[in-house]
Amino acid sequence: MQKIIAANWKMCKLRQEAGKTAEELCGALAAEPLSGRRVVIFPSFTNIPDVLAASAGISSVSVGAQNFYPAEEGAFTGEISLAMLRDIGVTQVLAGHSERRHLFGETDEFVARKTAFALERGFSVMLCIGETLAEREAGELVNVLSRQTALPLANLPADSISRLTVAYEPVWAIGTGKVAGPAEVFEAHAAVRSLVSRILGDDGGRAVPILYGGSVKPDNAAALLELDNVDGLLVGGASLNIQTFLQIIRA
Ligand code: PEP
Repeated sequence: MQKIIAANWKMCKLRQEAGKTAEELCGALAAEPLSGRRVVIFPSFTNIPDVLAASAGISSVSVGAQNFYPAEEGAFTGEISLAMLRDIGVTQVLAGHSERRHLFGETDEFVARKTAFALERGFSVMLCIGETLAEREAGELVNVLSRQTALPLANLPADSISRLTVAYEPVWAIGTGKVAGPAEVFEAHAAVRSLVSRILGDDGGRAVPILYGGSVKPDNAAALLELDNVDGLLVGGASLNIQTFLQIIRA
């Protein structure tokens, strides 16, 4: 399986800087095609067209959106629809990022609705899951991961499974500089693989890439990528700088 290295640019970079970063990154990747790596960039909405233009023709790079609202259209002020994203050439989205869950109150039910809505409309979905420190310390890791996968993955049409990716991101490791240790990542990814396989069946479960996210840096990326069931990385802060992100892609 190709390793997926995804960049979540969050609410960072103005248009010019985003375009320039994407151009330099894509220029480097075009000059040095990396077999076995697929890069996905999730810029903020206003930067998507510039990042799409910079990555045009580079098959190893694709562009996704950080958010969307699960309705076709209508009175949802401030929201963006999948049709609007498709209209500008985007067909992949994040769902369930911990910042959406914890800062904007997205519940497991809402994340499940978003996941099903996007998959049913032919989009690829990177579903983010992960426990808080309090949940981990209370021994709730597997229960939380089970709760966060059960609803979104229930009753998925078989032909949508190939468009699903799961990103395990312990909340306590996102943007904090605290990376989960290899044993913690190994344990959590084995749990996610088994939960996903229980819902989707062995073949379906094996086919879903599971990414790790949470303070990934050039100096921990290679060790994380070597672990069983780590099919890639979702990178926030360290993806904003081209050199650091390239080092992670090359790890
Ligand atoms: C993220 O935003 O998904 C993330 C993992 O952020 P960071 O790498 O900064 O922890």
